[in-house]
Amino acid sequence: MTLHPDTATARHALPSYLDPNRLGPWGIFLQQVDRVTPYLGSLARWVETLKRPKRILVVDVPIHMDDGTIAHFEGYRVQHNTSRGPGKGGVRFHQDVTLSEVMALAAWMSIKNAAVNVPFGGAKGGVRVDPKQLSLGELERMTRRYTSEIGLIIGPTKDIPAPDVNTNERVMAWMMDTYSMNVGETVTGVVTGKPISLGGSLGRREATGRGVFTVGAEAARRIGLDIAGARLAVQGFGNVGGIAAKLFAEAGARVVAVQDHGGCVYREAGLDVPALLDHVKRHGGVAGFEGAEALDRDQFWDVPCDVLIPAALEQQITRENAHRVTARLIIEGANGPTTPDADDILRERGVLVVPDVVANAGGVIVSYFEWVQDFSSYFWSEEEINERLIRIMKGALNAVWQVAEDKGVSLRTATFIVACERILRARDLRGLYP
Ligand code: NAD
Repeated sequence: MTLHPDTATARHALPSYLDPNRLGPWGIFLQQVDRVTPYLGSLARWVETLKRPKRILVVDVPIHMDDGTIAHFEGYRVQHNTSRGPGKGGVRFHQDVTLSEVMALAAWMSIKNAAVNVPFGGAKGGVRVDPKQLSLGELERMTRRYTSEIGLIIGPTKDIPAPDVNTNERVMAWMMDTYSMNVGETVTGVVTGKPISLGGSLGRREATGRGVFTVGAEAARRIGLDIAGARLAVQGFGNVGGIAAKLFAEAGARVVAVQDHGGCVYREAGLDVPALLDHVKRHGGVAGFEGAEALDRDQFWDVPCDVLIPAALEQQITRENAHRVTARLIIEGANGPTTPDADDILRERGVLVVPDVVANAGGVIVSYFEWVQDFSSYFWSEEEINERLIRIMKGALNAVWQVAEDKGVSLRTATFIVACERILRARDLRGLYP
């Protein structure tokens, strides 16, 4: 029987929410997959797997507000790929979260987990809410209802959430408790990034920043850039940017500029990073920090620097500002901060980009350690954790560096080659069910 042409086309048509022509993070991920496909050999027959998330759950999250009204928030959990193991990825609370963004973040988790070879697939979650507008009680109710709603598909062997933008240890404790209440037993391994006293891991809070520092210092060494005295500009001064800046400063770098959601501060001789961290803790952002010049937020991109660390949100380095970047080295602390157009411009200009899927993998590596420790109920020392983290991060960077040199491609494409081969080989070996 021959199919009607329309039926044949429809059979391969992507669902509307996967439309590659739509701009946004998911469109960027699809472009990244297209770039790597020619290098995948016979595994390329499975590449469509990567272009379609395995499972998408959109949930309504209604809660009682303190003033007696009822508010509804939109929540998501996306499991992009589970060929290599359970889904793993953070939960983001942000007013601009979209399904496209969560899909892309889940996909980047699949790539990242495969790139550093931890036995997880990729997942991500989010709620479209500005948590700064909620009281503590409202935040807790929202977290618990969201956890119950996605409880259908998460679990320690199914999909394990973790912190991301605007979520932290306290939120993870509520998530763990809610899941445990619903299943009738304490299940510490359902989330990572928990407080130490609830089965969290030493070193988890600092892990992503430490990983950014580890691969950043190694990449700098490889291009002959001395970290001692190097000028650093950091966008985003939360968990990732704040810790990375602190470690670079301790290694002798000068953190000359920091931009966050509310401002930008600059000091040519180097900012006092511990004092700035303290200021952010007290005031919620870098704006108003004394002992630094205040810049317009947009001036951040023109600041003379050697190393740039985007550690805030996606799509920050674009074709509009990529020409303005003065750094020789970009270490992506955030997920998806550089668009493919900007990648090309930076490569032409000789700027080395250490991609997110390697650079910020420290968090998920120590999350993996936390999950293993929870299963065995045996906890490791911080020295052991940091030593294993550094070994895996350096090993992953060295491996993708070699592929980049051998194939003459960017570090990002090299990382996608390594990761997609691992994911699609697993897919191929497992075969299709039924
Ligand atoms: P965080 O909430 O601790 O900090 C976010 C920072 O970004 C804050 O300083 C905030 O002011 C700043 N920011 C927000 N909007 C901004 C804007 N429009 N312009 C400039 N700055 C802005 O979050 P985090 O955990 O540090 O995460 C930061 C990035 O790192 C995210 O892309 C996240 O996905 C990624 N990441 C986090 C982890 C982790 O373990 N926390 C792991 C891997 C990747």
